[in-house]
Amino acid sequence: MSETLINVNNLTKIFQSRMHKQPLIAVNDVTIDIKKGHTVGLVGESGSGKSTIGRCLLRLIEIDNGEIIFEGQRLDKLKKDDFRKKMRSRMQMVFQDPYDSLNPRKKIKNIVLEPIRLAGKMNGRDPDLVAGELLEKVRLNPSLINSYRHQLTPGQQQCVGIARAIATNPDFIVLDEPTSLLDVSVRMNVLQILADLQKTLGITYLFISHDLSTVQVICHDVAVMYLGKIIETGTVNQVFNTPRHPYSKALLSSVLLPDPSKKHLSCELKGEIPSPLDMPSGCPLHTRCPSAVPECIHSKQQMQDIGEGHIVACMRVVNGEI
Ligand code: ADP
Ligand code: MG
Repeated sequence: MSETLINVNNLTKIFQSRMHKQPLIAVNDVTIDIKKGHTVGLVGESGSGKSTIGRCLLRLIEIDNGEIIFEGQRLDKLKKDDFRKKMRSRMQMVFQDPYDSLNPRKKIKNIVLEPIRLAGKMNGRDPDLVAGELLEKVRLNPSLINSYRHQLTPGQQQCVGIARAIATNPDFIVLDEPTSLLDVSVRMNVLQILADLQKTLGITYLFISHDLSTVQVICHDVAVMYLGKIIETGTVNQVFNTPRHPYSKALLSSVLLPDPSKKHLSCELKGEIPSPLDMPSGCPLHTRCPSAVPECIHSKQQMQDIGEGHIVACMRVVNGEI
């Protein structure tokens, strides 16, 4: 068993929707453990709250309720300034669009060195050398240190984003859809670089993606989100090979289960995903779930271990009824 790096307990994040003038529950009472050296995939349709969880973990936004515990320490209780000083260099982020996230006016070397400089950790080292070494770690030619963003391919740009994220030797990186804008061949290359960095540097990743086949390649564990809630979590094997929650079955059957002998693992949902401004009572899936019974309309679903850390928030699964 690996030890836990981050415990997220009952995390809730509510936005005030300006357009609708009412609260929008983006993340609803989410509990998840992130094991040291593992990659946890966070999957779910667009708008399910994945990016919001990533942003809460790095304190890019403040949480409304719950706890974020990093190596036993309450991150959400740290003063902003203390967080910046103690934690910023240990937790980094790679964004979906490298083009957007790299400053067009800065040379690549200054982009990748930025987190080291912010942490005041250059310690008199030669910037060109340090930047060149970082580029080598992501399999880029060190001669690119004097280039600018527009001179790089999208794959190279994303590698620069990764080089910047690893510059301070972080323990944890949130990867928010890091390969979804890349061509398939480039995507595999970037995933391999991320996996290799994890092996050599022991980094823990939260890998946010709506692309399930990518998650299957790179993740150890996976959590499935629906309307701000995690509804199923476990190892990739558990969740992808024996999905139990009707929503996971529906999500996976569209992409990963073309094999007719696995028909029992598929599920068809009714209707459309509700607006997060108009959250269903009880189980969030009850309005669409073919297995819903009247109790699902009223009872909140608890996350329950159905064996060996495979956790499902569906009383019908837990009771062995479906
Ligand atoms: P995902 O990453 O899974 O696509 P997000 O975490 O980006 O989902 O968004 C979850 C929900 O929160 C969505 O309904 C989104 O519109 C809403 N949301 C995200 N950020 C904000 C914000 N700053 N203000 C208001 N609503 C937001
Ligand atoms: Mg997102």
